[in-house]
Amino acid sequence: MVKILVLSCAALGLLGVGAWGVVATSGAPTTLAAGQAGVASATPNMARLSFESSGDADFDVWRDAFAMRALAAGRSADIVRRMLDGLTPEPRAVAADRNQAEFVRPVWDYIDRAVSARRIGEGQDRIAGNRSLLSAVEARFGVDHAIIAGIWAIETNYGAAALPHDAARAIATLAAEGRRREQFERYFLALIEMVERGYARPGELRSSWAGALGQPQFMPDVFLELAVDFDGDGRRDIWTNEGDVFASIANYLKSKGWRSGAPVFDEVRLPPSFDYALADGTSKPIDAWSALGVRTIAGEALPAGAEAAQLFLPAGHRGPALLLYPNFAVIRTYNPSDRYALAVALLAKGYKSEGGLRTPWPRDIGALDRSQTIALQQGLTALGFSPGSADGMFGSNTRRAVREYQKSKGVPADGYPTPALLTRISSELGAVERANVAAASPALSADGVKALQRAFNRAGIRVGAVDGEAGPATVAAIRRLERRLGLPQTGNPTEFILAEVEKLPPPTPSRRAPAKKNKRR
Ligand code: CA
Repeated sequence: MVKILVLSCAALGLLGVGAWGVVATSGAPTTLAAGQAGVASATPNMARLSFESSGDADFDVWRDAFAMRALAAGRSADIVRRMLDGLTPEPRAVAADRNQAEFVRPVWDYIDRAVSARRIGEGQDRIAGNRSLLSAVEARFGVDHAIIAGIWAIETNYGAAALPHDAARAIATLAAEGRRREQFERYFLALIEMVERGYARPGELRSSWAGALGQPQFMPDVFLELAVDFDGDGRRDIWTNEGDVFASIANYLKSKGWRSGAPVFDEVRLPPSFDYALADGTSKPIDAWSALGVRTIAGEALPAGAEAAQLFLPAGHRGPALLLYPNFAVIRTYNPSDRYALAVALLAKGYKSEGGLRTPWPRDIGALDRSQTIALQQGLTALGFSPGSADGMFGSNTRRAVREYQKSKGVPADGYPTPALLTRISSELGAVERANVAAASPALSADGVKALQRAFNRAGIRVGAVDGEAGPATVAAIRRLERRLGLPQTGNPTEFILAEVEKLPPPTPSRRAPAKKNKRR
């Protein structure tokens, strides 16, 4: 679905399946009274609509107020009434909206599922079955038919995915719920306009839980702007008409700058001791990449005259290395996810039997889920890097912060977050926090130093007489302890040091000092 990150879930079978949430139309009379107080004063021709209760008081309050806003925005009173009357909230939409992907799958799991051999085979059949239509769309919009099919596959599994919701109901529910009211009201206004213009009929607005429409999963504002009536029947039927579906996807990509005939990405080979920090989203001319030793995956020189490209390491320095051309960014406008765009491009290569990635995924390095990503972001912030807000989303700021952290440690700066990296950051953070606590710890009194000396002795660390004075033996013992704890060696007797010494286990018999003395004799 365009513009909402969760879209591709639909294609992967995550679209909620169930009853088709058909709007209950009670048949109760609705009233349409013109020129009532308040609204009428602002806009003289304003009508006032009233509806039967949906059974949900909050929803009713939103609906009545929104109806006024829709009329004020110039929408047709008749269509506003038709689309809001009998509408009830859809609890599943709210549940789905609040329950978005806590678990983030590793990129290879995503690609395995999105780009399966079965899906490629099915796509080849679908392409063969729609050859003339796809050729006509490709000729008109200049967009590779295999890319269109790849998006079609991921969005709705070639149109086969159930669209379990009525868009009006789903969008109204999310607008009424309120977290993103303005955004979803804008969608609803677009939905009304779609019906006003005759592009679609109220009863056929099937969608995902978030209101993404039809086989291309367009949000209503995108539909209004970019959906295409390819067969010229007056309707933009992205639900059942393949020509309208293909042309709408193609028109979307064309409008975002698709470059006809240009590639999306090339898998490449990097030279030994390559500076992985160059995979930071910066675009360079192909000659510059060649000069850095980058070759095709077959080991040959990069194609001369190719467009400027970014280097992308979707699974870090041990995984595939890709040069991304501008068309990759165009696909990303459909869904702002690198893995989505990669899956679409790999499907397109698969349809053409051009093969997939040749570098195996480094599956053993693992991946972070959302709560681990939050911990990573918090750790990076505490260590003075700037990953942005700790939201659990691994975006470009977090990637940059990871890369800077990796550089500071002299490890390959590929910006890829692994569980091992999180462990390293956490333990470093633990050390930093402990150092802060240690530095702020109050000095011991003479009695405290006595307690410290007794504690050292109990632990088998001889510091001489228990005299309450931190002499050379006591200071040396403190320094050794500080070194072992990874702290600056101050030798200062503090409450923190006393607490740490009290945690030490008693000496094991073999380490007892008397045995040593005997040996020396
Ligand atoms: Ca049409």
